[in-house]
Amino acid sequence: MHLGTQKNDLLGLDGVDPDTLTALLDAAEARVPMAEGVEPAPATLAGRLVANFFFEDSTRTRCSFAAAAQRLGANVVNLAGEGSSMSKGETLADTARNIAAMGVDTIVMRHAASGAALLVARAVDIPVINAGDGRHEHPTQGLLDILTLRRRLGSIRGRTIGIVGDIANSRVARSALFGLTTLGAKVILVGPPTLVGAAFTRIGAGPAMVRVEHDLDAVLPELDAVMMLRIQLERAAGGAIAADYRQLYGLSPDRMERLPAHALVMHPGPLNRGIEIDSAVADHTSRSVILAQVAMGVAVRMAVLEWALRG
Ligand code: ASP
Repeated sequence: MHLGTQKNDLLGLDGVDPDTLTALLDAAEARVPMAEGVEPAPATLAGRLVANFFFEDSTRTRCSFAAAAQRLGANVVNLAGEGSSMSKGETLADTARNIAAMGVDTIVMRHAASGAALLVARAVDIPVINAGDGRHEHPTQGLLDILTLRRRLGSIRGRTIGIVGDIANSRVARSALFGLTTLGAKVILVGPPTLVGAAFTRIGAGPAMVRVEHDLDAVLPELDAVMMLRIQLERAAGGAIAADYRQLYGLSPDRMERLPAHALVMHPGPLNRGIEIDSAVADHTSRSVILAQVAMGVAVRMAVLEWALRG
């Protein structure tokens, strides 16, 4: 779908049209009872082989791709950076070509380098699904965030969603921003100027749909949902964290009270409790949809695997 390859790669949500996004979300919606184990799933991917190619740590994404594949009858082979022949100097493209030569049907891949998924997509003739590449994109996270919002809020168009924290280093923020604005939501990016530059209003749908703000307290009453992000220490964001980050940008119970009564609290995980989000907020029974996001991740990945492999 994305960036010039002829096969059903999913490398990002940037440039994906509203109809395609909606079709993927509808397909995921139909898979929710099966993802939750309430209904049996059809074996639409029986006999297919999914390669889970994870060169960066992951809990939710890796397990939910495996769960999604297995629910649909596919088998999963795993490859991590550590323990692979990349330590002997083999390139990422050669590694991918070798995996593809084993008859694998699709590669799901995560890598610390932005653009790694595109590089692999160009190296092999099977579909590649980006499970997070550096600070670039994490399209299935974007889809699961939007599906969670659509189910809870009823609609995306006209909603205002805040994304708070380390926007500069967040692939989650980019994919959410592209997907949400394409479907007609407004996005307010909030954080310290070191982590949220004004240039962000020029990406995606542009300034009509994207705002940059630095005062979280002022923004909260406008939001239908707030997505809290972790500081990406592994992407060298550490120097940008002021000692008072929590005080300025952490979602405390007091701040949560400033949100409209219907507004939802989201987080892609992993949580750094007591920094960007307090436990009383993360575990709040009516506001927090953090575990619902994880559940939607399986349904979204079922839909994306079926789309990549079957069209
Ligand atoms: N799990 C998400 C990601 O892989 C968010 C995070 O790590 O902060 O991008």
